[in-house]
Amino acid sequence: MKRKTKLIHGGVGGDPHTGAVTTPIYQVSTYKQEGIGGHKGFEYSRTGNPTRHALEELIKDLEEGERGFAFGSGMAAITAVMMLFNSGDHVILTDDVYGGTYRVMTKVLNRLGIDSTFVDTSNIENIKGEIRTNTRAIYIETPTNPLLKITDIKGVAKLAKEHNILTIVDNTFSTPYWQTPLTLGADIVLHSATKYIGGHSDVVAGLVVVNSKELGEEMHFVQNSTGGVLGPQDSWLLIRGIRTLGIRMEETEENTRKIVEYLQNHPSVERIFYPGIETHPNHSIAKEQAKGFGGMVSFDVGSGEKSDQLLNKVKYFTLAESLGAVESLISLPAKMTHASIPEERRAELGITDGLVRISVGLEDIEDLIEDLEQALK
Ligand SMILES: *Cc1c(COP(=O)(O)O)cnc(C)c1O
Repeated sequence: MKRKTKLIHGGVGGDPHTGAVTTPIYQVSTYKQEGIGGHKGFEYSRTGNPTRHALEELIKDLEEGERGFAFGSGMAAITAVMMLFNSGDHVILTDDVYGGTYRVMTKVLNRLGIDSTFVDTSNIENIKGEIRTNTRAIYIETPTNPLLKITDIKGVAKLAKEHNILTIVDNTFSTPYWQTPLTLGADIVLHSATKYIGGHSDVVAGLVVVNSKELGEEMHFVQNSTGGVLGPQDSWLLIRGIRTLGIRMEETEENTRKIVEYLQNHPSVERIFYPGIETHPNHSIAKEQAKGFGGMVSFDVGSGEKSDQLLNKVKYFTLAESLGAVESLISLPAKMTHASIPEERRAELGITDGLVRISVGLEDIEDLIEDLEQALK
């Protein structure tokens, strides 16, 4: 099955009871048993629900893994993955990781004894020096947010295997349509499905796919024990979103390419961050490990004052957190998505007050460029 076909025909596909071509919303919490333990695969919806199961099977197929899991948010998914570890364990993470991931590692999971170190994983040498005897995982986000740095997934997975460490990839920005980390050697891939997978700014959800039966059992144990599952309505919305993921990603890619070209030639833009640009430091790895560069672009207009003006003047780019939806969004990472990262750390990372992040949507490209043109003036 090719990629767009799989988005539509992967997973469970339809409803065996009625012939419905899409999986219905099984809005149900419990299931009748024919004698004790005699059920049809479902007993209680925290443990398993048919609509959620259809989504979990679909994301498993898309990521080419062994088993999939759906959670109530990306953060619930990330937290559940970290619950695979024990007090005293250590995790190495990408330094410009999603702000919420940084927060849960340094303000919540640290209290439970899970220790973390943040390094620039776009250079694998940086990881090597941080591996300890208690390191259990290398957690990478690629491309990163908001600087669009790229980490070599295959290289990290190889290093991790040599040390008997798990490789975990946050694949939110690329989606399985462009990048499938498990096929590059990663053990666990996860998503904020709130973004491209849902794609319409109407669901908050998280997904996890693992590459082995053992990890599948451990992950299900955590999911069922801690209970942060996705409800049937939202599971159904994600299945619906996934059906058009391919055409949305293709169209986004095209729009983004044109916007990047435009911004590269604009005198008010001091720096631009996009892995599709040939001068991007990891362009060749990006090209090798992903089929597309995605719809996220960051650029620096030089000062907080200028970025403020830009944000106030755009009319098609909605000022909002989040990304990956049909409508174009614009944000100021230093004051929004990355506000939970301390100021000195932001400065270290290069997340300045002039750094603007856009998520390119599916509007007509002429309108989007015209909008940026008038706002940058
Ligand atoms: C949004 C986001 C998350 C968190 O997901 P939620 O669905 O908001 O909980 C994690 N990682 C990345 C890369 C994100 O963009």
